Amino acid sequence: MSTNTTSAYSDFHLQFIAGEWQTGKDGSTNTNTNPYNGDTLVEIQQATKDQLNEAYDAATQAQEAWAKQTPAERSAVLYKVVNILDQRQEEIVDWLIKESGSTRIKAMVEFGATRAITLEAATFPNRVHGEIRPSNTPGKENFIYREPIGVVAVISPWNFPLHLTQRSIAPALALGNAVVLKPASDTPVTGGLLLAKVFEEAGLPKGLLNVVVGSGSEIGDAIVEHKSPSLVSFTGSTSVGKHIGELANGGEYIKQVALELGGNSPFVVLKDADIEQAVKAAAFGKFLHQGQICIAINRVIVEDEIYDDFVERFLAHVKTLNVGDPNKQDTAVGPIINEKQVKSLKEKIAKAQEEGAKMILSGEIEGQVVPPHIFTEVTREMDLSRNEVFGPLVGIIRAKDEDDALSIANDSMYGLSSAVFTADMQKGLRFARGIRAGMTHINDISVNDESNTPFGGEKNSGIGRFNGEWVLEEFTRTHWISMQNEPREYPF
Ligand code: NAD
Repeated sequence: MSTNTTSAYSDFHLQFIAGEWQTGKDGSTNTNTNPYNGDTLVEIQQATKDQLNEAYDAATQAQEAWAKQTPAERSAVLYKVVNILDQRQEEIVDWLIKESGSTRIKAMVEFGATRAITLEAATFPNRVHGEIRPSNTPGKENFIYREPIGVVAVISPWNFPLHLTQRSIAPALALGNAVVLKPASDTPVTGGLLLAKVFEEAGLPKGLLNVVVGSGSEIGDAIVEHKSPSLVSFTGSTSVGKHIGELANGGEYIKQVALELGGNSPFVVLKDADIEQAVKAAAFGKFLHQGQICIAINRVIVEDEIYDDFVERFLAHVKTLNVGDPNKQDTAVGPIINEKQVKSLKEKIAKAQEEGAKMILSGEIEGQVVPPHIFTEVTREMDLSRNEVFGPLVGIIRAKDEDDALSIANDSMYGLSSAVFTADMQKGLRFARGIRAGMTHINDISVNDESNTPFGGEKNSGIGRFNGEWVLEEFTRTHWISMQNEPREYPF
């Protein structure tokens, strides 16, 4: 456990633009509240389009000099960020709990993932490299350079705000780019301003990282349509992602997009699986962060022969989970991020019952705390199966056999993560390879993220991959330069 000897960061009511902390001039206020008890954490005057322009101008100016710094100099800033994260671990975890409703367990998971991607990014300045390719033209040499992209726009969601922001901005900065970031309105601190404080303390030159907190109507589209960013890195819902994709390619300027969108992860339990282990995995993979994770288990699919046994043991285990105050060490299920999401979950509960699913576990919804709800006899056609739940509700589907389980698992317009439990690893591998998704975990949960393995999805779950070499490619541009070393013969 780290000890914090420095004083806690303050002044989160300000925007971070061009290396200065300044007041937003939009006239509207973002009131940032604690989703568990409703306390106001900070009130932020939101930014205007002019302030967004200022951020882009600063980023464009600062980027050129930054790209010319040595790899060692850029790495040093990232390593410093890791040190500061460590020193301020408790302060950061506290913010994750009070701003995003993270349980202490989830906040620690998120802190670990954030630290890991920062360490990974610190190696990028030295890992990025070009190539020399042979040429069929006599006297020619082909060089392939890998250069910074320039300015990157980052738009991040509220569920893993610290990590999902950092997994874009740390690689982007390490690779010589500048960033303009818009955090989600529910998490302006952990999704942006807190990281700006950390990078500032680490000595990142002014203008390279800008955090603009604003309303969707004032700066939402403008951040994407602006001429400066060459890449828009968006993590969020599929519906907003589609809109971002259209904006990025339908306007005056064409941009690259990295879209990390919604999911509908299947968790398949085959008849030879270790049921006890599968039960524990299903509970953790479903209820971590109240199910508000893009790669959370969305559908539990169990082979007929063990269905009843699995359901009975799963119900018994889920009943033991502690629900309520996220700050308590042993709380498993904390609050939902906002009232709109609570309302959507209430509608889903009603719809599941209307559609004929059997509710075998429910509970009183108090404030924004929604206890686990379990539904059985769920079919692939029901709303619970077709759509992303993003909450602590789970439907359990009965599969006739392995083939049926695979067919159900693939029956989705999403393809982000997935999981299969079986005692036979060869069968598990065959099954995993049959799933159309970006990620599949055998005998583990769908919720996995490692800084050196490709994270991303297929179909409506998005375009692009994070982490390791995959993000290194995503956040650089490829430039083919050929050199004709002797006069070439032209046909005319
Ligand atoms: P969201 O799409 O509502 O918002 C995401 C971000 O987009 C926020 O910062 C929001 O302010 C911004 N935004 C909204 N409208 C905009 C516009 N018109 N122009 C520019 N920005 C705009 O998503 P959310 O509710 O914050 O997050 C939950 C969703 O994100 C879920 O669907 C989840 O699956 C998905 N998600 C995906 C991943 C992944 O890696 N694939 C990770 C986490 C969350």
